[in-house]
Amino acid sequence: MNPLYSPTAERADNRCEYCHAPELVFNDLFKVEHIVPVSHGGSDNTDNLALACRSCNKYKADFQTGTDPDTQTTTRLFHPRQDEWSQHFRYEEEIGEVQGRTPVGRATSDRLQMNRAAQIAARRLWMQLDLFP
Ligand SMILES: [Zn+2]
Repeated sequence: MNPLYSPTAERADNRCEYCHAPELVFNDLFKVEHIVPVSHGGSDNTDNLALACRSCNKYKADFQTGTDPDTQTTTRLFHPRQDEWSQHFRYEEEIGEVQGRTPVGRATSDRLQMNRAAQIAARRLWMQLDLFP
């Protein structure tokens, strides 16, 4: 386990800092993710670390940018330490989607594939369990 897992998970309230998935319903710990990837010079400092579910961690990979599907422009991804989640994303509870409010939110949602069918199905179950949002 990453030695910084506990403080990172506590700071994140055991939720993915990108899609807000609740760690409680998973059978493995979430990942301590480098916001700026190590391969791009990112450090192990806590201000460069975020808690990420396996899906967001997998699709973010070493990317720092994505494409805003509304404008087809390349933009940076959401930065959990510098950005306010609710400024960039909103829940669409009726359809179970996490939608971007801004170019950063839309590009991040798209890059991290936050609205794949499996994500939406899981989110609907979490809502039934009162674990989401
Ligand atoms: Zn996630």
